[in-house]
Amino acid sequence: MDRKPIPLISAPEIQKRVGQLARRISGDHPRGLVAIGILKGSYVFMADLLRRLSVPVLCDFLMVSSYRGTRSQGEVRLLLDLSLPIEGQDVVLVEDIIDTGLTLHFLKKMLLARRPRSLKVCCLLDKPSRREIPLGADYVGFAIADRFVVGYGIDHNERYRNLPYVAYLKVQP
Ligand code: 5GP
Repeated sequence: MDRKPIPLISAPEIQKRVGQLARRISGDHPRGLVAIGILKGSYVFMADLLRRLSVPVLCDFLMVSSYRGTRSQGEVRLLLDLSLPIEGQDVVLVEDIIDTGLTLHFLKKMLLARRPRSLKVCCLLDKPSRREIPLGADYVGFAIADRFVVGYGIDHNERYRNLPYVAYLKVQP
């Protein structure tokens, strides 16, 4: 059975922030950009963000295995690769959450090896208190406390992705 999600960030708050991020990203990339969404958690954020950009954009996706709770960076694995080359392109990586930073570390290393002209990171949610690798995003939607969140594309066992807002689930006793 679904646990009752407790609202944390409302749909209007998210939309307002997405508009602000899109304006900043557009201003920083006047020639356009390649946006890379990390599946599955970023797909709703990616769809809203890209529709608010005012510069030309190419859209692609990556999927990595999620090993939440583990500590070894060796355990991040690529499940789906890009369909577009990014050499010489201005790239913006679109993430749902930066938590320990292990996934971002893996992705940045992999993408930089393909020699983009620039690589920026945009995340909807940032949990700075959980960081194990000192990496951050260039564009952050909301910094949040160490809570397990769902909604707006983010799941718990594939549920809750369709919520239009971000909520958290209480840890069961
Ligand atoms: P990191 O490698 O930074 O520790 O983890 C990033 C990934 O962990 C996110 O892209 C997301 O898939 C997952 N994650 C981290 N915190 C949460 C959370 O509160 N809720 C959910 N559903 N996933 C999370």
